[in-house]
Amino acid sequence: MSSSAPPHPGPPPRRALFVDRDGTLNPDLRYLREADKLELTRGVGDTLSLVREHGYLVVCVTNQSGIERGFYTDEDVARIHRRLNELLSPHRAKVDAFYYCPHAPEHGCDCRKPRTRLFEQAREEWNIEFGSSAVVGDRAIDVQAGRTLGLLTALVPPRGHEEEVRNEMKELGQYADIEAATFAAAAGRILARG
Ligand SMILES: [Mg+2]
Ligand SMILES: [Zn+2]
Repeated sequence: MSSSAPPHPGPPPRRALFVDRDGTLNPDLRYLREADKLELTRGVGDTLSLVREHGYLVVCVTNQSGIERGFYTDEDVARIHRRLNELLSPHRAKVDAFYYCPHAPEHGCDCRKPRTRLFEQAREEWNIEFGSSAVVGDRAIDVQAGRTLGLLTALVPPRGHEEEVRNEMKELGQYADIEAATFAAAAGRILARG
């Protein structure tokens, strides 16, 4: 190629909605192993469909320390993620990519939220622009990871745990850009940003 050739621009970066899994897409059943027990939280399917229509990739980043603890395996997690997309398909929605940390906190890895390695991996693999992307989660660690990366952050505390999550946030010195009672409401406010 001649040196006077214009630089190849490459495809423009995409925006993504990063979503937590347990407590956000599905009720948190604590160390869920069996895919057939998985349920979608009400409203999540139609909301993810809308989010994808607005041009967002949907990327799930989840801590699954149950793997290192021996409660379930990578195969179990893969089955759950396939099942999640099966449950989303009648809503014409899906999670485009799943990233999970298999480590226990004691491991000190750099992929367990609130650390950000999995988000950065997704950025490389999917050409994501953090500045126009957002994260939704049910815990302070989700917000903390999003803040570190410069994402718009949305917190949807699990029903009945609002006070607990508020205290978590206070302890970590975190605040979310958006706090909403439901996933749909949080996504609505993210999409309203344009
Ligand atoms: Mg969660
Ligand atoms: Zn990890």
